[in-house]
Amino acid sequence: MSTTFRSTRGGSPVTFREALFNGLAPDGGLYVPVAVPELPAGWENSASFPELARTVLGAWLGDAGLGEPAFSRLVADAFDFPVPLSPLSDGRYLLELHHGPTLAFKDFGARFMARIMDALLEQEGRRLTIVVATSGDTGSAVAAGFSGRESVDVVLLYPEGRVSRLQERQLTMKRPGVRAFRVSGTFDDCQRMAKEVLSDPELRERGLSSANSINIGRLLPQQLYWLWAELELRRAHGVTENPVFSVPSGNLGNLTAGVYARLAGGSAAGIIAAHNANDWFPHWLRGDAEAFSFPETVRTRSNAMDVGAPSNFERLNDLDGEQLRRLVRGWGISEEETLGQLRRTYETDGVAVCPHTAVGLAALERDRAAGRTGPGIVLATAHAAKFPEVVAEAVPGLNVTAPALEALAAVETEAIPLGPSAAALKEWLAG
Ligand SMILES: *Cc1c(COP(=O)(O)O)cnc(C)c1O
Repeated sequence: MSTTFRSTRGGSPVTFREALFNGLAPDGGLYVPVAVPELPAGWENSASFPELARTVLGAWLGDAGLGEPAFSRLVADAFDFPVPLSPLSDGRYLLELHHGPTLAFKDFGARFMARIMDALLEQEGRRLTIVVATSGDTGSAVAAGFSGRESVDVVLLYPEGRVSRLQERQLTMKRPGVRAFRVSGTFDDCQRMAKEVLSDPELRERGLSSANSINIGRLLPQQLYWLWAELELRRAHGVTENPVFSVPSGNLGNLTAGVYARLAGGSAAGIIAAHNANDWFPHWLRGDAEAFSFPETVRTRSNAMDVGAPSNFERLNDLDGEQLRRLVRGWGISEEETLGQLRRTYETDGVAVCPHTAVGLAALERDRAAGRTGPGIVLATAHAAKFPEVVAEAVPGLNVTAPALEALAAVETEAIPLGPSAAALKEWLAG
């Protein structure tokens, strides 16, 4: 059994393979499941994350056309790092999604997508170039996910001066088959440029695809840790009450995946969309912002969430709005609250979190102040060591490190400067 997908803008259903390789639907819409498949019986008994992944993704994709042992091996290889749920004070838990190679949750989607694309391309004897607009973590996760894959090249677009020093090193490290472009513009410019080249029929002909969170192949594996967190809350911490999740949000990919997990039969009592100053979505949820009428992007310390126009909104807007608003509510968190939360979490719980995670914790606090109770799971979306400047600003003298990042100091880097125009990028790609 496998699910079919359709564009948010209509048309007939397509297979997973088509949705994966198209990225964006030909009509400019995003692929959504025709129906969210129910969680298969016995999924709660999954003993490990890869086992959960095989069971849940199996309900969506069958064996994805790869044959059974191959699909299981692919999943086990994609998710070969731990996913701990660690307790903080006051019935709060951090779901640590930063133990993959680039120390951010984007590794889950990127590693799965890279492996499944590569396996399917190899079957067909084809090659592809992946175009990725990144606000920091996406690009490095995608480049890392695809490095060593035979059938895929990667083009990265990132906004100049708007990613951290470490992120920039991760993005621009020299790797075979990976080209990084430093765009003199915002993340939204990068995203627009990517969308524009991807919808160019001539370039598509040559084999272009996307790997942003708009690709369904990245979104589907992101449901897994929401379900894993539920299991771990019960099994490892003995908590039976259904949790509220707080998810640091930018393009709303993670949140959309969480909504799918809930619709599939997950037990989230509620989902908090935790935004920084780019808080159009919380306003929309409250009914005081128009759909698709997006403001300019504001720069913040939680820069992976500096998104004015969340690309996955089109998927959420495709769901039943009333049902969505019953499940999801949102908060916009200021820079002061972010720093204060980071400091307090260090002082109270002895844990240094990244600024995005701090936004998630602050939003949970706001939600509790507004009267919502119960266990709270905050998605820790990146490792604190990726944002040493912000951590030291919140907690003077604190220097968080991670071995994977220290090794970066020695790598050779390269980036090609580019204006914020799709025409310039098209020239490069066509040349
Ligand atoms: C990408 C990212 C986010 C935002 O996730 P979306 O799926 O785009 O909403 C939050 N935190 C970190 C660290 C990220 O890299």
